[in-house]
Amino acid sequence: MSTPPARIEHFIHGAIVPSKSGRQQDVFNPATGEVSAQVALASADEVQAAVASAKAAAPAWADTAPLKRARIVSKFKELIEQNHDSLAAAITREHGKVFSDAKGEVVRGLEIVEFACGIPQLLKTQFTDNIGGGIDNWQLRQPLGVTVGITPFNFPVMVPLWMAPMAIATGNTFVLKPSERDPSPSIMMAELFKKAGLPDGVFNVVQGDKLAVDTLIQHPDVKAVSFVGSTPIAEYIYTEATRRKGAYPMRVQALGGAKNHLVVMPDANLEQAVDALIGSAYGSAGERCMAISVAVAVGNIADKLVEALIPKVKALKVRNGMDREAEMGPVVTAAHKAKIEAYIADGEQAGAKMIVDGRGLKVPGFEGGFFMGGTLFDHVTTEMKIYQEEIFGPVLCVVRVPDLGAAIDLVNGHEFGNGVALFTSDGHTAREFSRRIEVGMVGVNVPIPVPMAWHSFGGWKRSLFGDLHIYGEEGVRFYTRYKSIMQRWPETIDKGAEFTMPVAK
Ligand code: NAD
Repeated sequence: MSTPPARIEHFIHGAIVPSKSGRQQDVFNPATGEVSAQVALASADEVQAAVASAKAAAPAWADTAPLKRARIVSKFKELIEQNHDSLAAAITREHGKVFSDAKGEVVRGLEIVEFACGIPQLLKTQFTDNIGGGIDNWQLRQPLGVTVGITPFNFPVMVPLWMAPMAIATGNTFVLKPSERDPSPSIMMAELFKKAGLPDGVFNVVQGDKLAVDTLIQHPDVKAVSFVGSTPIAEYIYTEATRRKGAYPMRVQALGGAKNHLVVMPDANLEQAVDALIGSAYGSAGERCMAISVAVAVGNIADKLVEALIPKVKALKVRNGMDREAEMGPVVTAAHKAKIEAYIADGEQAGAKMIVDGRGLKVPGFEGGFFMGGTLFDHVTTEMKIYQEEIFGPVLCVVRVPDLGAAIDLVNGHEFGNGVALFTSDGHTAREFSRRIEVGMVGVNVPIPVPMAWHSFGGWKRSLFGDLHIYGEEGVRFYTRYKSIMQRWPETIDKGAEFTMPVAK
């Protein structure tokens, strides 16, 4: 008799809480196509319980000294390091990405945890002695209370770590609603937080779908929502959450989808540009918000670029993610694979030139897996759906333009503005491009410009709804409220009421 698949439950007030909602969803192993687990889908009551736990824990946690909070975050960091391989294996099992890439994901998340360990310094504010009349003025950055993170499938460890350590270190409590497609790492992280000494209720996890999300963003006790996912849902969450009335409007940062261009100038080092394109377009099967999905070939480099790409796309080693040789794993689900294939069919019909067709790939021993090879299109134009929309799969589109100005206009004309890269050997071109481009993260001879933990992450245009980017100092601002305090002691106060505007004397 085969064993039933594991159930992935909620984590509320320091313990795993089996769901009683009666709703659940299959979680797949994308390499085999088999159901590896079932994830609970929360009822509104279960979401309420998680928020109630976070609310109850909030006052004591906000009053805990930042240094003490930092020590717990630091212990959490150590525990992640000790569990690096098991976290990465869980990512590969449910997401499908190659194990070494999953390990890299954990490292990129860990960097935010490391940054959050410095919270006493980050919360330190400015003080002015004697602004006038014996009054001193300084400011505080105070936590908001209950905060929420809603995360996508493509980085089940890194994206929650963009949010939770920052929220918690700044003195908030946190409810995570991870993707239902790869939920296991959320529970592993909750257990590590607990082991690190985090008080019960400071970090909670509710598994779920739209019902859980809607309950969270409409909850009167939730003060801030960080969302990362596709643009339609980001826009929906931003609109719904900011609609709330009351003394405290909901604070929202909602990071959405992308269509990232890599511009190759005629003076670029061709070999470097080709390697950059292959890694950034096909790494993680193109399921990265910073994946390059459009190669912009400027001037006479186009033919050489396409010729150099072809053998490398054909040679991609598409395997089970635990295979040491693998360069690209499967995509996340059969439904996602079908969606990518539909885009490819649409591109062909719209007249894009198919150069390499990644459909129909079978991996020996893993015939049930959701694998596809790399696809390469040339002569893609701006009217085509494969250019306009985010495919989120291993598909690279080459667009040909005559010069730098046309390349900049092309990128600026796209509705997304997450990341962009330029490959050139000319400093002036790079400077002009960086200044004129309307994109939040820019790489010069760097294909995936994901900012370091202490530089914040976020796109422009329809890639980000809200004012503040995620993590880094912008993250500290997002999770804290600014207060300015002026103080004077009684013996220095002159007698009698003053009716004129106070000015420094
Ligand atoms: P998604 O938008 O489908 O899901 C994200 C989250 O929203 C999940 O937790 C999901 O349960 C929830 N959700 C889904 N449908 C919902 C609905 N109708 N109402 C309320 N909540 C809903 O995204 P995904 O497919 O998991 O992730 C891929 C997307 O995320 C891509 O578009 C990618 O570009 C984007 N992404 C963006 C960034 C960034 O930093 N900008 C980073 C990673 C991923």
